[in-house]
Amino acid sequence: MTEMDVQCGYCGKKGCFRGDMTQAPEFCPSKLEPEALKEARGKLEEPETRGLAQDVARTWRGMAGKNRIELTMEYARLRGYNRLGLAFCVGLSQEAELLSNALINEGFEVISAGCMCGSLCSDDVGLPEEDKIMAGRRQPMCNPIGQAAVLDKEGSQLNIMLGLCVGDDVLFIKHSKAPVTVIAVKDFALAHNPLGALYTSKALFSRLNTNRPKK
Ligand code: SF4
Repeated sequence: MTEMDVQCGYCGKKGCFRGDMTQAPEFCPSKLEPEALKEARGKLEEPETRGLAQDVARTWRGMAGKNRIELTMEYARLRGYNRLGLAFCVGLSQEAELLSNALINEGFEVISAGCMCGSLCSDDVGLPEEDKIMAGRRQPMCNPIGQAAVLDKEGSQLNIMLGLCVGDDVLFIKHSKAPVTVIAVKDFALAHNPLGALYTSKALFSRLNTNRPKK
């Protein structure tokens, strides 16, 4: 336990980016959690983990100007992943079709599982009637564990999440055996761009308080 919390989010200099830790603040993890960082670094000695990390580093070359879909394909190629699993929200079915086309047109095999696969409803998780949108009615339920199971069974080498809800993404990542990356997260209010809430937080009527807390 440490008295101070790690707070990279409040670090102004970000000396770690330049490899210069001489002016690291007191809340820097290099000061507060050196053992955790040492242990994490040790994991990069494992051959598979090292390969995964090396290929990320390789994507940095020529990254400028490439969009996330292009970088996902580049990473998949570097890793030798040809069979890609798409875990999508059925609210983004059109996007799922377009993305499938784009991946297939670049030579990948694509399998896709929509969030409603298995046709669950909230009764399957024992949701009380008073917590439903409309009591007494069937409330559809996403099945991220099912999506992960189907994609893994179908031999996906890399699972790509497209617009899963908050929490469904947690379950999907937890249960996917294949490595997971993200093309987009769900945010119907902001065209699936949740950072828009931060970028507009200083505007009049913003509901987010992004002022730095006093203490
Ligand atoms: S690791 Fe240290 S230097 Fe880097 S951002 Fe965090 S606090 Fe700043």
